[in-house]
Amino acid sequence: MRTHDVDEAALIEELPKLHELQGIDLRIGLLLDERAQIDDGSGKTSDLQRAESRLAEANARLSDLRGRQVDRRLERDSLQERRERNQHRLWQEMPSQHEAEALQLDLQSTATRLDAIAVELLDLDNRIEPLEHQVEDEQRTVNELQGELAEVRAQFAGQVKGIDAELRALHVQRKEHAAQVNAILLDRYEMIRSRRGDPGVVRVTDDVCTACRTQLTSYMLRHLQLRQRVQQCENCNTILFWAGEARPQLWHDDQEQRDAVESGDDDD
Ligand SMILES: [Zn+2]
Repeated sequence: MRTHDVDEAALIEELPKLHELQGIDLRIGLLLDERAQIDDGSGKTSDLQRAESRLAEANARLSDLRGRQVDRRLERDSLQERRERNQHRLWQEMPSQHEAEALQLDLQSTATRLDAIAVELLDLDNRIEPLEHQVEDEQRTVNELQGELAEVRAQFAGQVKGIDAELRALHVQRKEHAAQVNAILLDRYEMIRSRRGDPGVVRVTDDVCTACRTQLTSYMLRHLQLRQRVQQCENCNTILFWAGEARPQLWHDDQEQRDAVESGDDDD
């Protein structure tokens, strides 16, 4: 009959330990939040990827235009040779009337084509020049971003190193603390945290639950002081334990006290 009460009273003795364990949990939570906020360079990485793809695109367009420029120049050079050859035959080799007419026609069409090529080469020059500047700019951006990314990554590694070392130490500490707290109590604490978040247990030194700022009833305050069972806040369910000064006026018999409260008589 008393077994349950004895167990619960023993659990109360472990509440300060559970509260210490919660201190470790809060610190772990804080460090994980802090770690998540440190720039790991992922933003910079996407900036770099965008710059690299712009550079690749500009380079591809530039190489296409330069290829066309080379083709046109080769065509122009061979047409110029052909023109010189034809001119030589026309003026130096005394061709027949028929041949001379054919050479004239050929010279005309060569001249027309050379004019078209000159226009096209000029257009290619006009497009290649700004593209070369663009490639230079993008290349500079890529280089800068690569440098910045390396810096951010090095900083991240440095900052995370300290946090990770502390986290490892905290996990060891937590394991040690958890071994000293009854599993029933630990489960109750974990369940409260998983439902409501932190805290799972609070010290009470005044008349309020510090988890939800609710005024505690005198019935609750009395039971916290009587230390017979583990108490949980009636409002937020957080585990409570008394850590304030003793208040002997609350230690009277339950029924007596309840009667006294109900009748408004506090002297009893
Ligand atoms: Zn509460």
